[in-house]
Amino acid sequence: MKTVARRLFGLFGDPVGHSLSPHLQNEAFRLLGINGVYLSFAIKPAELGAAVEAVRCLKMGGVNITIPHKERIVPYLDRLAGDALLTGSVNTVVPEDGKLVGYSTDGEGFLLSLRHQGQMEPTGKKVVLLGVGGAARALAFRFAQEGVAALYLVGRNPEKTAGLRADLLDRTGFSARGLSFSEPALMKVAAEADLVINATPLGMFPAVKEQPAFPLAVCHRDCLVADLVYHPLETAFLREARKLGLPTLEGLGMLVYQGILACRLWTGLTPPFAPLFQLLNGLLAKKEAFHG
Ligand code: NAP
Repeated sequence: MKTVARRLFGLFGDPVGHSLSPHLQNEAFRLLGINGVYLSFAIKPAELGAAVEAVRCLKMGGVNITIPHKERIVPYLDRLAGDALLTGSVNTVVPEDGKLVGYSTDGEGFLLSLRHQGQMEPTGKKVVLLGVGGAARALAFRFAQEGVAALYLVGRNPEKTAGLRADLLDRTGFSARGLSFSEPALMKVAAEADLVINATPLGMFPAVKEQPAFPLAVCHRDCLVADLVYHPLETAFLREARKLGLPTLEGLGMLVYQGILACRLWTGLTPPFAPLFQLLNGLLAKKEAFHG
């Protein structure tokens, strides 16, 4: 009897113990009828080169990359494609014709969540990004390409904010504005914003009471407030926005969509959003009930 080998997929990062990606991808494979298994691997920076070689010699179907390796992995790959070419950050590695190609699905994942769950088209909108780290970078490059009317980058480290502004201008020709969290001009920016996104880890479990210092109270009533943090599902930032009557967008949709896009890059097939969203939503709700 001929047996078909099960294909190995994985996540490289550190820590990875609490990642939802194995739940997401294994369920996606089951729904699509793909004979694959997805495992998480805790990889230290010094082990990353060997881990990438393992992808080659084990003929893995693909891997996701998370903190702290998203930029560090670039020299170990054969080439970058799509958003990863612009941002220099990789969250998905795809074997293509014997080469390993780095992609980033974070920016597109957020856009899909924004369109389908937030019911917002970013073109022509005034967007405020709080935080200028890896996730903010992925979103900023997407927004620059989607033709937003204005993009405000709010960071606590002026050099890092200036660096992202310069990269955006250099690689896309888009001019964003940089601000600090304490700048008086933030009030005017908040009053005019159509979309405000928390791209900092503030509010993430276990520090669930934290939130970025941003004057949500002056936002206009149609301003959509989004959080990339998904544990807890409703962050303190989103809770404040809801109390003010503002529409909100949780981070879980982005997580599911970036995973769906990664799965499609590896398999050519697109798993359905709804059952994957329900699965992760249920797992997170259980975690929240457990932690009180
Ligand atoms: P990162 O690269 O470490 O960037 C974090 C950013 O937040 C940096 O600009 C950092 O400033 C800033 N920051 C941290 N603490 C701050 C504080 N107390 N006050 C003001 N700014 C602060 O992390 P990341 O990869 O961008 O991730 C950010 C968040 O998004 C995390 O919670 C992550 O879990 C979440 N995320 C969610 C998804 C999803 O699918 N929903 C995807 C990716 C990321 P400095 O640069 O000065 O340190």
